Amino acid sequence: MGPQGVGKGTQAARLAEVFGIVAISTGDIFRANIKDNTELGTTAKAYIEKGDLVPDEVTNAMVHDRLGDEDVKAGFLLDGYPRNAAQVAELDTALASFGWELDGVIELTAERDVLIERLTKRAHDEGREDDTPEGIARRLDIYYTETAPLTEAYAARGLLAKVDGVGEISEVTDRIVATLAAQLG
Ligand code: AMP
Repeated sequence: MGPQGVGKGTQAARLAEVFGIVAISTGDIFRANIKDNTELGTTAKAYIEKGDLVPDEVTNAMVHDRLGDEDVKAGFLLDGYPRNAAQVAELDTALASFGWELDGVIELTAERDVLIERLTKRAHDEGREDDTPEGIARRLDIYYTETAPLTEAYAARGLLAKVDGVGEISEVTDRIVATLAAQLG
């Protein structure tokens, strides 16, 4: 978990490699569906462009479906999900239905001005449609109001590893791996 621009996608891909598991990014799945003009993509597009969350029933069904795939059985990491309280509850239900439990939750942190700087650069480099000044502000607001408070519940369950997301990419990966080992065993 972590705000837009903190490096979730980058670190998720690296951690997937370190641990030999798959990274499941809800944002990437939505973007691939938009690119392929699927029904899911058409539904998600309007929300994503505005910086709003895609409705829970759509997102939850998509994640549940992905968790049923064969490659997930060896382990997985979720990037960008859950993002609100309803998704936390749905994830617990979905995991229970497969007989699984979360091993840990990583929270990556950075100050808002660092995030805006990174997202503005990404808008320039990658041309993501939702990286407009309004989209960036909207997504950060949603993160701080809806998503950030969820980390407390995971901390109370003894699952949270909080890691500073500012630094060299490899440094942050090392920090995450070390924090997971120290806090979650
Ligand atoms: P991301 O690549 O994680 O920044 O996600 C890009 C956009 O996809 C978000 O701004 C949302 O519109 C949508 N999205 C990604 N994950 C979720 C989620 N868990 N719940 C709802 N919408 C999501």
